[in-house]
Amino acid sequence: MSHNQSTDLMNQLVDNITKNGATTLSNPDGVVCVHCGTLVPPLEVEVLGRKRTVQPVCKCVTKLQAAEQKRFENYQREKDVRRLFAISDVGNRYQNVTFTNFTVRPGTENSLKLAKHYVSRFNKENPNALLFFGEPGNGKTHLAAAVHNALVAQGHVIVFISMTDLLNKIKSTFNKAAKETQDDILKALAVCDLLIIDDIGAEKISDWVEETVYRILDTRYRCNRPVVATSNLTTDEICAKLGSRIHDRLLEMCQPVYNAATSYRKELAQKRTQHLSKLIQTGEI
Ligand SMILES: [Zn+2]
Repeated sequence: MSHNQSTDLMNQLVDNITKNGATTLSNPDGVVCVHCGTLVPPLEVEVLGRKRTVQPVCKCVTKLQAAEQKRFENYQREKDVRRLFAISDVGNRYQNVTFTNFTVRPGTENSLKLAKHYVSRFNKENPNALLFFGEPGNGKTHLAAAVHNALVAQGHVIVFISMTDLLNKIKSTFNKAAKETQDDILKALAVCDLLIIDDIGAEKISDWVEETVYRILDTRYRCNRPVVATSNLTTDEICAKLGSRIHDRLLEMCQPVYNAATSYRKELAQKRTQHLSKLIQTGEI
């Protein structure tokens, strides 16, 4: 290799390391990332026996760029899904929930661990996901919404919707004036990276409901795409209420995770009542 060729190669390598907006070396200690404040030290690289010091970009920038790239690739798919399922489907209440602002209470530890683990290993082509079940109001929806929010931040196309809302959405397409058809919705449910169904089993069951829920799950199953679900019912109760076809499909796709905590909502309500009784006792009310 000629001297010029090796210089070209080195420049190319340096370019690769410092591309995406890296600055030139202005400080021997490194640069402070303008986004997260981390001090990013310079990096010494050696090519063909020659050393050069370069300034890499912060990991937070690389991460953002990767998410941006994924978002760009997902653009069309996302557009179709978003057209049918607004981000607001997550609901204001759950828009900002994360694993960090999840209140850990006795019985929630495992669910939290498994939810986090699922996000860290997320692969849209791996159909093995999770079914959180347990008492109403004990944090299952918070965990499912945190999974949604974490994966959306990574650029994935995720649909989060309660079973009741989903069925209502499909029913609304039966109206002749509706712009979307049932097939449009089912297609969007099939192509999203992850479908999160909140509160499965809360809906009133009819033949149509049974058939539709089965069709949604089965389509995902056939595409090898994951479903995360939450339910106030045990798996046996799901079987009794929704039938064995839905129960079997669901369990083929989801690892049941029992969230053993008691109702957080009930706990808060009890605390408020206790507080009020105290105020009454002490004559403050
Ligand atoms: Zn940074």
